Amino acid sequence: MTAWYAGVFALIVTALGWFLVTSLHSTLNENAQEALELTYRVVADRLREPDTDLAAILRDAVLPGETAETEVIGQILDREGNVVEAYGPRVVDGRVIDRTVLDEVVRAGHWHGPVQIPGRAHDDIAVVARLSGGVRTGSFLVLAQTLGPSEHAAGRLAWLLVVATPAALTVAAIGGWFVASVALRPVDAMTRRAAGIDAARADERLPVPPADDELSRLASTLNGMLERLRRALDAERRFSADASHELRTPIGLIEAEVDVALRSPATPPEARSVLSSVREEAARLGRIVGNLLVLSRAEAAGTVALDCRPVDLLDLAVPVAARLANVAADRGVELRVAGEAATAEVDADLLGQAVANLLDNALSHTPRGGAVSVTVSGGAEPTLAVCDTGAGIPADELPRIFDRFYRVDRARGRGGAGLGLEICRRIVEAHGGRIDVESEPGAGSTFRIRLRVAGG
Ligand code: ADP
Repeated sequence: MTAWYAGVFALIVTALGWFLVTSLHSTLNENAQEALELTYRVVADRLREPDTDLAAILRDAVLPGETAETEVIGQILDREGNVVEAYGPRVVDGRVIDRTVLDEVVRAGHWHGPVQIPGRAHDDIAVVARLSGGVRTGSFLVLAQTLGPSEHAAGRLAWLLVVATPAALTVAAIGGWFVASVALRPVDAMTRRAAGIDAARADERLPVPPADDELSRLASTLNGMLERLRRALDAERRFSADASHELRTPIGLIEAEVDVALRSPATPPEARSVLSSVREEAARLGRIVGNLLVLSRAEAAGTVALDCRPVDLLDLAVPVAARLANVAADRGVELRVAGEAATAEVDADLLGQAVANLLDNALSHTPRGGAVSVTVSGGAEPTLAVCDTGAGIPADELPRIFDRFYRVDRARGRGGAGLGLEICRRIVEAHGGRIDVESEPGAGSTFRIRLRVAGG
């Protein structure tokens, strides 16, 4: 915008400057012409008197203080055009006007116009007429005056404009750029703030400029929109938190009642297999609902809220694996927990949920006859590794499996939502730990949760 304005400004100033210089030049020329005509009339009058001398008359007529530069050249030419009297700077070729001008004067009586006199730095203007009355009747009187001063003044103005225009242009451009950047600063501030607003920071608002103008109205309107979006987001989070919370109780009840039925000797064997399948699906439903609850809470608070205590990871892994023992047995997969005691500062419920997700995935992707193990190791980085001998994950899919809703083979359709690993990652990262995976297609995968030592 600044460049555009500077360009337009330069164009206007140049056009204006050109107009100024040419009009000053022509006005000064006209003035010089008028002054010369005036001098001419005075001189012609005086020349009618007897015993007059052109040089003396001109000396009186020309204003004192005029320099050779401005000085008038006067000549009286006889009827043949020969110079008989002269005043002023010496003229190289004698006569200052040529024959054609004299012919024109003979015809029209009077002539004025520009002339170029050899030896003079600038053009002159000249007035020529025939004298009448007195002894010089019939002679030509020629008065010429240099246009130097007007050319000089116009040249000075042009020079001034050439120097002043770029300076004025620079000042105007810098000023314009400064004003524009001050005016656009609030937009910049809004842009920067808007770039940082996301679902986790839905409470942030754009800065509203103090002036009551279009920008402040824009900021207020966008803030209004952000507020409505935040309310909608809150409502959605509250809904999924409430829904998952509400679902947990009936699922827990189903699990408990199926357990009772499975333990009862009165349950016929054919019902047992159906019930254990129901038990398995209820447990899976419980994990999915648990995942949704973790996620909605995490999104509402911006992070997963933890209730950390020093926990032995082996003590944590054993009951989680025990809950999935039935599933493993049904699938013909061996499930083991091994390793050493390793204490870490963790939220046992949430980390249990993460391990359950990993075991659930491992059991789902391991064919009959395979093995799934949870191995706990201590040291500087207490680690919990879930290892399977299953299908594995192709190398190009590995970087994305922790993303939300990402599933390796959608067509395979085990019914997962692609949430399990994202929740594992969130839970582990909330603990200040890391989760990574190594996998070889066809050979199996190992997911490793590395945590910090208790008190570390
Ligand atoms: P889902 O709910 O679909 O299991 P996850 O986030 O738990 O979603 O897993 C994402 C994808 O990673 C799954 O679709 C699955 O294909 C793949 N995956 C996870 N664990 C394993 C594993 N142990 N072996 C093979 N593939 C796995």
